[in-house]
Amino acid sequence: MSTQPTLSRVDRPKSHEAFARAKAVIPGGVNSPARAFGGVGGEPIFMARGEGAYLIDLDGNRYLDLIGSWGPLILGHAHPKVVAAAMEAAQTGASFGAPCERESELAEMVVEAVPSIEMVRMTSSGTEAAMSAIRVARGATGRNRIVKFAGCYHGHVDALLVSAGSGALTLGVPNSPGVPEGCTRDTLVLRYNDVQQLEDVFRVHGDSIACVMLEPVVGNMGLVIPTLEFRKALRELTRKYGALLIYDEVMTGFRLSYGGAQKLFNDEPDMTALGKIIGGGYPVGAYGGRQDIMKQVMPAGPVYQAGTLSGNPVAMAAGIATLTELRNHAPYTRLDQLTRKLCEGLSAAATDADIPHQINRVGSMWTLFFTPVEVNDLDSAKTSDTARFSRFFWGMMDRGFYLPCSQFEAAFVSAVTTEAEIDQLLIAAREVFSSGI
Ligand SMILES: *Cc1c(COP(=O)(O)O)cnc(C)c1O
Repeated sequence: MSTQPTLSRVDRPKSHEAFARAKAVIPGGVNSPARAFGGVGGEPIFMARGEGAYLIDLDGNRYLDLIGSWGPLILGHAHPKVVAAAMEAAQTGASFGAPCERESELAEMVVEAVPSIEMVRMTSSGTEAAMSAIRVARGATGRNRIVKFAGCYHGHVDALLVSAGSGALTLGVPNSPGVPEGCTRDTLVLRYNDVQQLEDVFRVHGDSIACVMLEPVVGNMGLVIPTLEFRKALRELTRKYGALLIYDEVMTGFRLSYGGAQKLFNDEPDMTALGKIIGGGYPVGAYGGRQDIMKQVMPAGPVYQAGTLSGNPVAMAAGIATLTELRNHAPYTRLDQLTRKLCEGLSAAATDADIPHQINRVGSMWTLFFTPVEVNDLDSAKTSDTARFSRFFWGMMDRGFYLPCSQFEAAFVSAVTTEAEIDQLLIAAREVFSSGI
């Protein structure tokens, strides 16, 4: 991958040095490709610390953070209660390799919050959660085929690295080398929001489909919203043919409501993958669902799944503290209003500058697409002017607003963001738009 020249007008010498050092020992200088700025050119910015709604880079520049570590930090950086809980846990042992009560406490909170989840297993990442949910679905149904949707990202699971979103999409690597054909042979990739195609596939393959997995609101091709008709068809067809419906709520869980997208929509999937927010910024994933399905998981049942650091006490403590704060001081209504103001303001500013655009938003998740076309699947998302996005991105970055470094990612607003900060962002955006991007 060639590095495009940067569009930034700000020098960040310490970041530049840090990146050179990292590149010598870490592939591409990053431990996850979505951070590499591949979609916008230039070099990633190295962070020194996070403070509430802000990130501070090595050179001392402050940014209003509109990513929140790609979703987990709904309470902002270093929330005092989350820090205190994690420190207290760390002081009494980083990991036991034996059960501890915090695991049940977080599991109880998840079961209480998400109506379709009766039992839950903790993992250390969203990838593991999605991968394990599929294994259990296959084990429980005795079937092999799985259905996914183009543009949805479920972590770097072999069988799901077909038309995947997020870093895989930005980098234009729909199929990664190293994933043998055999791994994706049973994966059917359909168009998001396409009811007809879903019906056709079930008519032909229905009896061999173990599960359908989707992001119930997509963040990983930029924000895409499912139609009511699509959600209904998913539930009806999977029930009719005995396939399991799996909602990947790694990003939307505890983000769109305390019980995730399914609570907001009043949907009832058979299984759910979680991650991000439930770890409060620490490495946690989880998958859960109906008891009869989850009792297939070893040692209750025959489907193997394990993890040395699964249910890690420090990560559990951070997750419990985060969910407790979200439960007791639900920020969702305020976040919805704040993010609406942000999106309406951006849209007005883009319109005034004659810039064709679409803004998709649910709650505090949003994407500004630079396209005149309504965006409801991967093909329409890809009509976006990514060169214009890059200019917008760097214009905002240089003014202290840290947005996702790709057109095909969702942005987030955190609960510690103020209305005054949104006003400042809108002033900056007007400046960038009128500078002739
Ligand atoms: C982030 C994400 C994953 C992967 O989670 P990791 O913790 O990065 O492994 C899976 N599914 C969705 C919807 C995600 O947004």
